[in-house]
Amino acid sequence: MANKIPMTTPLVEMDGDEMTRIIWKMIKDILLTPYIDLKTEYYDLGLKHRDETNDQVTVDSANATKKYGVAVKCATITPNAARVEEYNLKEMWKSPNGTIRAMLDGTVFRTPILVKGITPFIPTWTKPITIARHAYGDVYRNVEMQVPAGAKAELVVTDSEGKETRATIHDFQTPGIIQGIHNLDKSISSFARSCFNYALDAKKDLWFATKDTISKQYDHRFKDIFQEIFDAEYKEKFDAAGIEYFYTLIDDAVARVVRSEGGYIWACKNYDGDVMSDMVATAYGSLAMMTSVLVSPDGVYEYEAAHGTVQRHYYKHLKGEKTSTNSMATLFAWTGALRKRGELDGNSALMDFADKLEHASIQTIEEGVMTGDLASLSNLPNKTTVDTETFLREIDKRLVAML
Ligand code: NAP
Ligand code: MG
Repeated sequence: MANKIPMTTPLVEMDGDEMTRIIWKMIKDILLTPYIDLKTEYYDLGLKHRDETNDQVTVDSANATKKYGVAVKCATITPNAARVEEYNLKEMWKSPNGTIRAMLDGTVFRTPILVKGITPFIPTWTKPITIARHAYGDVYRNVEMQVPAGAKAELVVTDSEGKETRATIHDFQTPGIIQGIHNLDKSISSFARSCFNYALDAKKDLWFATKDTISKQYDHRFKDIFQEIFDAEYKEKFDAAGIEYFYTLIDDAVARVVRSEGGYIWACKNYDGDVMSDMVATAYGSLAMMTSVLVSPDGVYEYEAAHGTVQRHYYKHLKGEKTSTNSMATLFAWTGALRKRGELDGNSALMDFADKLEHASIQTIEEGVMTGDLASLSNLPNKTTVDTETFLREIDKRLVAML
């Protein structure tokens, strides 16, 4: 294209691993750089480079995200013992997503991409449900023990002056188990603000649910913090945007979600979000169609796909075989980041491009051209299964027609 769309502020680009790294480059080459004067600050989070930099590159990329405000991330390997051997690693480096999430103090929002021809397992879900999962504490930071018969288990809190407050958990006549969990007002407040900001951004209702009737201190604290912050900082903004904050008991929420048509954000405590996001993703059809964005309470955004590096496809690719890997979630990470960058910089051409690229990719699938994972789910009468690169070229054909 003669006149490429200019950018003023760079996106923080976090490259990754395996098949998604291959897709990453294809998306840039086929769908982005021909049309945009793409400005990025590049960080290679591929496992080899993380190892070479003793994982400093992950920290640097998170700091750059704080500085510029918008990042786009490719899926990355979280090393386990097998990966330490495969890549001859100096250490079993921590999950980059965990490191970035901790540094940005963010909440993860996951939203499915809906297309005609793929009916959710709950057919009334005609609009996407976004799950917002609190990413700190509770059972993920627990302390637990097995308790022998005859033991008494207590909760003991020692304050800064050394004064103890005690409560009996249980007098064990027979053997059993206990666990201690915690959360922080600060983290819950960040979670609440991230959710309220995201709801305003997306102009969608926000639901939140806990088990406050049973957990009268712990879960009730979540409910109270959300309500206090909403009343003090967000009520008027929500009224002006015509959206609603709705709190209910988790049991009631689950029943309402199943009966709903979707179209809202569902804020979940850490465990609820872990479980419910798998349920929601599966019900909408495919992990490869699930987008994900990490939003910090001060409005920093990091976009990515919800799936991993698609290792099995990568090994096929290395053998020279064609793969049919779905690039939708990775592509939507790019469009989400470009649109947000455009919004922050007042760059409407960039926002418009992101919209058109998303439309072109959805149109491609709805016209029956798709990767293998979707072909097995789609009920369109005429469909063609294409390989990874052909799918992107088919999107490009439709994009060109729109531009
Ligand atoms: P995965 O990459 O999510 O893939 C699991 C399976 O799901 C694939 O083998 C494939 O099924 C299907 N699939 C996922 N994404 C697909 C796509 N875009 N197109 C088509 N099919 C897709 O999980 P994994 O293979 O268990 O994990 C690989 C690596 O990813 C691990 O090292 C893990 O640490 C990392 N990981 C990273 C992130 C992240 O960075 N956010 C998240 C999760 C996992 P078929 O093989 O049946 O075709
Ligand atoms: Mg899970």
